[in-house]
Amino acid sequence: MIYDLIVIGAGPAGLTASIYASRHKLKHVVFESGMCGGQLSMATHVENWPGEKQVMGAELAKRMEEQARALGMEVRCQPVSDIVKDEENNCFCCLAGNDRVQAKSVIIAMGASHRKLGVIGEDAFVGKGISYCATCDAPFFNGKVVAVIGGGDSALTTAVYLAAYAKKVFVIHRRKEFRAEESNQEKARRTPNVEFVLDSVVKEVKGDKRVKSAIVENVETKAVSELPLDGIFVYIGNTPASAIGKRVGVETDARAYVKVDAAMRTSVPGIFAAGDVTGSVPQAIVASGQGAIAAMSAYKFVKGFKDGIAVVNR
Ligand code: NAP
Repeated sequence: MIYDLIVIGAGPAGLTASIYASRHKLKHVVFESGMCGGQLSMATHVENWPGEKQVMGAELAKRMEEQARALGMEVRCQPVSDIVKDEENNCFCCLAGNDRVQAKSVIIAMGASHRKLGVIGEDAFVGKGISYCATCDAPFFNGKVVAVIGGGDSALTTAVYLAAYAKKVFVIHRRKEFRAEESNQEKARRTPNVEFVLDSVVKEVKGDKRVKSAIVENVETKAVSELPLDGIFVYIGNTPASAIGKRVGVETDARAYVKVDAAMRTSVPGIFAAGDVTGSVPQAIVASGQGAIAAMSAYKFVKGFKDGIAVVNR
């Protein structure tokens, strides 16, 4: 069987693409190697999803998945290792384990993965004090001392979230200025048990069975100190999952994000992209919007529309 569409990734972009694909009666399958919801599932309090004053990321992701499934989404819990062109059948073939799944169009919605610090001790203590997911791990740090690394919105919202569990939350950031929205900076500053360690980088994570401390260097003074810690939450941004797109000829920019036009078309006709993998503003609402456009564009492609623009004329 040749599907109309394969969606790779079931974060907000992929789930919304599926919702729109179902509504356009596209026979499609969604591949997801982890859990549906992607990074949204790990977000703490989401306060910028229209219609929701405040909702936990995992709850919002669960609702998206339920809606997509109710409309007929088929999910395969497998990683796609490659996309190849099937010239003979004029379609694409996604390789997943020993399976080869064919489709007339593909939406790459694999998002981005969390960046690592790359310091001594980081890998050794993953799950033993080093975490990349506060919503998953915060309860383990009740009454403990933790640090969040980073100065973006993720780091500061995470610090405030952790402050409800931990006795003390240090925010270790390599500059004085924050990348985070002013409102998120405000909230962190107003939280009594959040303390900033600025102009500072972690050089090493130390411990025995679990994390015990971090070696921190002040980048201005070069002073080095050892900060006793029970946990370290790394929130220093993301790297796009664009490799399989690149291998099939999809153009990427200098930072490895997939290049798309306004209709979410990539440089390869029939392959579309949506969400964080495109390097646009990495917000769930944007990823969902792009997923909707990509699905409508895939519909037009599959049905042989000539202009390829996203909006379906009525
Ligand atoms: P981000 O905005 O890229 O911030 C990454 C932070 O980590 C920066 O402060 C950066 O420092 C620091 N950093 C990067 N590499 C580092 C390294 N090797 N060592 C130490 N520090 C390092 O990433 P993000 O916070 O994950 O946010 C991603 C996107 O999601 C952003 O667009 C953000 O606005 C959005 N978001 C929004 C909300 C919200 O509530 N509105 C919540 C979460 C995320 P420099 O600043 O010095 O580069």
